[in-house]
Amino acid sequence: MERTHWLCELCLAQGVTRAATVVDHEQPLALGGLDVDENTRNVCDEHNRKVTAEQFGHRERLAFGADGLPLDPLDPWRAA
Ligand SMILES: [Zn+2]
Repeated sequence: MERTHWLCELCLAQGVTRAATVVDHEQPLALGGLDVDENTRNVCDEHNRKVTAEQFGHRERLAFGADGLPLDPLDPWRAA
């Protein structure tokens, strides 16, 4: 955190000065990222939510269930 003087790196990149509250892993540990300085960045709450959603968002949207049919009840395959 001291590396960026406790400021959000992503806000700084946009010219905004905001205190960082979270040390984010650019490559999430859950996805094989390493817990080293090179893989971390200091971010504010808002950016933490944003990047976490981007990193994991595609995993939360499972398109198909165990039966092979789309999970979306409005999907035409489901209604057929
Ligand atoms: Zn930020």
